[in-house]
Amino acid sequence: MPTPHPYHAVPEANAASRAALAWLHTARFLTTAAQLHQLPALNVPEIAFVGRSNAGKSTAINTLTQQTQLAYASKKPGRTQHINLFALGRQGSTDAVLADLPGYGYAAVPQADKQRWQRMMANYLVSRASLSAVVMLCDARHGLKELDEVLLEVIRPRVEGGLRFLVLLTKADKLNRTEQSKALSIARLHAGGGQVQLFSALKRQGVEPAALWLRQLAEQTSEHVSPPTDLQKE
Ligand code: GDP
Repeated sequence: MPTPHPYHAVPEANAASRAALAWLHTARFLTTAAQLHQLPALNVPEIAFVGRSNAGKSTAINTLTQQTQLAYASKKPGRTQHINLFALGRQGSTDAVLADLPGYGYAAVPQADKQRWQRMMANYLVSRASLSAVVMLCDARHGLKELDEVLLEVIRPRVEGGLRFLVLLTKADKLNRTEQSKALSIARLHAGGGQVQLFSALKRQGVEPAALWLRQLAEQTSEHVSPPTDLQKE
């Protein structure tokens, strides 16, 4: 008997995950900005990725987009303090944008620089019109730290107004099952209303649910924002 085509062999949920991953795989570098006014005005949903430095943000973006180098563009000298935008959707019809924000909390950064980044990030989170969702990456072993909670406080008014947020507890492979469920419960308490999931790039844990969350978010938001369109600079 011939082997069934893999498409017919998978349940519908898997087909949806695969579609979401295929969509994420279209990610390509759009632009980089050192200051907020340099960001293009967009009329598609924008999803910001935030996290303490070393939380696993670049690895998560690369895993979700299935591109080995994409978010490492953000780690090139001169770009670590920038907001880097990646377009999603077929060429010529971008339907969402990922925003990779600078990692925060890195001890070796001078205090003045830290404060400047934190101001920029807060301004971005408060004022960016196209921002539809925030994905926060936290090391599962450490949970939400003070700066993560400060950030959640900053976005709280927008969350009440409909901004969605997802906390991904990264490097979950470093915890056993008991530790994982404990980390999940504690983070859920701290995240107050947002969604929290375990994530491991290494073991591919939580990749499909996160991809689905992003895809559904973009679909739902674009119904309210505007139809898919080419990007336009201000
Ligand atoms: P970023 O500074 O937040 O962008 O963090 P990176 O993506 O550069 O990751 C920081 C470190 O954590 C690197 O050494 C990664 O290899 C490691 N890391 C990231 N994701 C995982 C994971 O899922 N499992 C494990 N074990 N290590 C990871």
